[in-house]
Amino acid sequence: MIYSNLISKKRDGLNLKRVDIELFFNGYLIGKVTDAQMSAMLMAIYFNGMGEEEIFSLVEVMLKSGKTLDFSDSKGFVADKHSTGGIGDKVSLILAPIIAGLGLKVPMIAGRGLGFTGGTIDKLECIPGFNTNPHIDNFIKWVSINGYAVMSQSKEICPADRKIYDLRSKTGTVASIPLICGSIMSKKIAEGISGLVLDIKVGNGTFMKSKDMAIELGSWMSRIGEAFNIKTDIIYSNMNQPLGNYAGLSCEVFEAIECLKGKGPNDLMEVTFELGSQLLIQSGVTKTFSKAIELQKSMIDSGKALRIFENSVETQGGRLNEFLGQSLPKYESYVYPKNSGFIQKMDTESIGWHLVDMGCVLQNRGQKLDKTAGIEFLKKTGDRVHQDQPVFRVFCSNENKINKVSKTLNKTLTIDEIAVREKQTII
Ligand code: URA
Repeated sequence: MIYSNLISKKRDGLNLKRVDIELFFNGYLIGKVTDAQMSAMLMAIYFNGMGEEEIFSLVEVMLKSGKTLDFSDSKGFVADKHSTGGIGDKVSLILAPIIAGLGLKVPMIAGRGLGFTGGTIDKLECIPGFNTNPHIDNFIKWVSINGYAVMSQSKEICPADRKIYDLRSKTGTVASIPLICGSIMSKKIAEGISGLVLDIKVGNGTFMKSKDMAIELGSWMSRIGEAFNIKTDIIYSNMNQPLGNYAGLSCEVFEAIECLKGKGPNDLMEVTFELGSQLLIQSGVTKTFSKAIELQKSMIDSGKALRIFENSVETQGGRLNEFLGQSLPKYESYVYPKNSGFIQKMDTESIGWHLVDMGCVLQNRGQKLDKTAGIEFLKKTGDRVHQDQPVFRVFCSNENKINKVSKTLNKTLTIDEIAVREKQTII
């Protein structure tokens, strides 16, 4: 088979057969299809989309590139959540210990930063020693010990997503419904879960910019989930501004810990509790939304969720005390608005690219993440700002980067005299 023929076929808008997808994607895994060829294929899919049979074949081929976990002996309901990606989205770090405390088992396969969005794995790896690449047997054991564990795609689990994920990030091909379905659903099905809640972000700080696109993605993912016997619920949440008060690497882990101590910002807790409620209702722990919220709050108020988080970090090799005792970022700077008034809009994608620039997402070979980098949002949409009061605090380990980012970050804000209210967090 000449692989380039398959690229041409997709480029010309024709449908690939299942055997084509198998040949091409498995060929990539064994090194017969080059990065250049896979990049071209991804771009062809990005522009021409895929039909139903192609999407289902893609998910299955990506799933079968590795092993599937087996939790059939598990006592608790096995479930997970996944987000389509955004800025400041650290919900997984907060939600997993909460629902684990309520008896669910959560084998979470998460990703690194993708495009301009942050990744759970990169954030957890800020904790010295934290192992995101365990042997499957250890991962399963960790889930049974603490109720949840987090790992990255690996050579054993979802190797196709592991290899393609990075390439999508570097080639501007992330925002494609079939590719997102393949990436997320292959990971979730491989977890061996029975329940799933997907947080589909909508807005200018994510890949689905419009509600229509988000709904299309949601309906595909829920159909795929159901076809694989996974109860799948979809939540659409607002990503027209960052979630919570921080975005970056270590700072997001710190913020997640604050949330587990009961000091989380409203928007972040609202998304967390909404997703958690869906899972608690799915699993039969409770029938009502109000009870689900009450149960989740009790996990925080009693300190149980925080303890589970701490135990889980320790089980995965992480040294939390060392992380918490780390010195502050080397450089910080305050950014002021160009004019006074109310924040009408935040260009959240651009904020994401500023974070990428500071080293929060890997873009090029040889580049290293700056674990200390991040942004604190002192003001958000709808807030009144004054020219002599800062709106952002930026921090990282590189003076040049701080200077560069500080000069342009205020361009991400649209400010006017008219008072506005930010739209609801859950759409
Ligand atoms: N998260 C993933 O794991 N994959 C995507 O394609 C987008 C978000």
